[in-house]
Amino acid sequence: IKIVARRLQRRYALKFGISRTGPKFEEQIQKAAAVVFCQGGAVRILGIDSKVERSLLIPYREIKVECTIPKDDGTLVSYVGFRVQHDNARGPMKGGIRYHPEVEPDEVNALAQLMTWKTAVANIPYGGAKGGIGCNPRELSITEQERLTRVFTQKIHDLIGPHLDVPAPDMGTNSQTMAWILDEYSKFHGHTPAVVTGKPIVLGGSLGRDAATGRGVVFGTQALLADHGMSIAGQKYVIQGFGNVGSWTAGILHDQGGIVKAVSDVSGAVKNDKGLDIPALVKHVSETGGVKGFEGGNAIEASSILAEECDVLIPAALGGVLTRETAKDVKAKFVIEAANHPTDPEADEVLASKGVTILPDVYANAGGVTVSYFEWVQNIQGFMWDEDKVNSELQKYMIRAYADIKDLCKNHNCNLRMGAFSLGVGRVAKATMLRGWEA
Ligand code: GLU
Repeated sequence: IKIVARRLQRRYALKFGISRTGPKFEEQIQKAAAVVFCQGGAVRILGIDSKVERSLLIPYREIKVECTIPKDDGTLVSYVGFRVQHDNARGPMKGGIRYHPEVEPDEVNALAQLMTWKTAVANIPYGGAKGGIGCNPRELSITEQERLTRVFTQKIHDLIGPHLDVPAPDMGTNSQTMAWILDEYSKFHGHTPAVVTGKPIVLGGSLGRDAATGRGVVFGTQALLADHGMSIAGQKYVIQGFGNVGSWTAGILHDQGGIVKAVSDVSGAVKNDKGLDIPALVKHVSETGGVKGFEGGNAIEASSILAEECDVLIPAALGGVLTRETAKDVKAKFVIEAANHPTDPEADEVLASKGVTILPDVYANAGGVTVSYFEWVQNIQGFMWDEDKVNSELQKYMIRAYADIKDLCKNHNCNLRMGAFSLGVGRVAKATMLRGWEA
């Protein structure tokens, strides 16, 4: 079965345009094939026509631009920027822009596709896109980041817009990055706050957007636990990653009586069996830049975080962390995919055989893009919502999406990942067919 699955993955990866050469081939295959593989499964479950399948697979548009900027010392340096617009059958394309040294076209492609299914699962009127620049933002000064963002925006301004493609923050970018994009875009098109989401509040950002992905992760976890007769309070959580998503998730779980017993980030990992004091840890991280050295817990190896004893494991950092090897050591009963793509298909099998329930990324981390949608709505209405309205609407969307996924799981006797993909793929396929192909 594994060999056949692997062959299928390769076939899909090739369809997806991944070159068969180069040392990173295997890694690329894993990243891209994981999404395409799930899409393939959903297509079979739903009995979707092969022409529609093909159209769902191929991105609408792939943009690659050279961004040359002067560094602060006057030397010129070039970076490559990407924007992959995957699908717009259900609305304008939507997705983050990441600044990371490992940004490469295949991964951006896979992540753009994931956004198409994510917006469809959340039932917000968007398609999917993703962008990025292959750079290390930690090595760029703030003025260099600003120059790079402005040059990138100059190159893509004609291809984004409130009704075309709406970028947002992702790894290595934040509300300041969105402010620069808004400013540069507005030079060409007039003041247009709805061109990006995740903006600073004074520029039309939404209250609650910063916490939204973490809050959505907690709403999703709550729905899953309730389904198993459990609640957030009293369960033990381990979180990999303490950036925007990990830290908000930890803080909200802590507020609701969850025991966050271990967290890690690039600096290291800390553990306290009685539960970490998350507000104190957030303060420590803002003062020192990382969780390392936090006195309210013991230092542990960051590499062993996924193997910690707990009820709920939450990968909230990079993709591809749960592999066939690391999955074997997982002791949690539930894995909540706060990161995009944390579990590769082989790890999925290992976890299933151990009876671990996975809440898939296309649902678990959809809170961010859902509140991005609320931000866009507020910009278009020219009316600001209060934070309670944002949070209660987010809760409604997350609860409804969970119920929709469960319906699919019941009807097709499948797990939550296949249920979520089938829900997303089905909605996009329906929109695609209703719009038709006639020129
Ligand atoms: N970057 C986030 C994601 O991967 C948010 C995207 C958005 O708000 O458009 O879901």
